[in-house]
Amino acid sequence: MLPDADVVLEALGIPDTGALGHRGASHSPLFALAIAGLIAAGGQRFGLRPLYSGVFVFLAVVSHGVLDALTTDGRGILFLWPLSDRRFEFPWRPIPDMPCGFASLSARGLRVAAVELIYFLPLYVWVIWPRRRRRAPERPPPMPGLGHAGARAAGIVFAVMLCLAAAELWLRDTRLISAVHRPSVSRAAGPANLTKTGH
Ligand SMILES: [Zn+2]
Repeated sequence: MLPDADVVLEALGIPDTGALGHRGASHSPLFALAIAGLIAAGGQRFGLRPLYSGVFVFLAVVSHGVLDALTTDGRGILFLWPLSDRRFEFPWRPIPDMPCGFASLSARGLRVAAVELIYFLPLYVWVIWPRRRRRAPERPPPMPGLGHAGARAAGIVFAVMLCLAAAELWLRDTRLISAVHRPSVSRAAGPANLTKTGH
């Protein structure tokens, strides 16, 4: 959730445009890399392994921008910042945009939350499914190789996409989805649209 802390800048009076605006630099891979570097460097004091905590934090933070680029109406993401100010979004954008601030508690906001819950439900179930706890070993077990961890990460990304695609097909033409997908006004304005959303 850290990338969305960029809304604080607007509250401080900084104009909500460019790289300092919402969905700006804080959603870029470079920002994720910087945070990962900080955690990798500072986490050792708390017993974290630099490489793994760094990679884990990078994937967690960068996934925010990637998921935002999958939303229907919001701003594109500065994936190449600071090399380019171009905002990118995926051609397939199944995730409806959450309205900003208190509007997220409106009827529309709750519908969007319901759609997101359905989209990612299999993953939530997988995460909270009770597992047998193993006794803590005296020495930490050896970490799996990076290839193994990469294969696992790729599997999780594939599972997320599969959940999204299946849920989108399932929800298509339902009243719930047509209530959250309002006709896009901003999209007609071109690729660098600046619609404000809560993500
Ligand atoms: Zn965001």
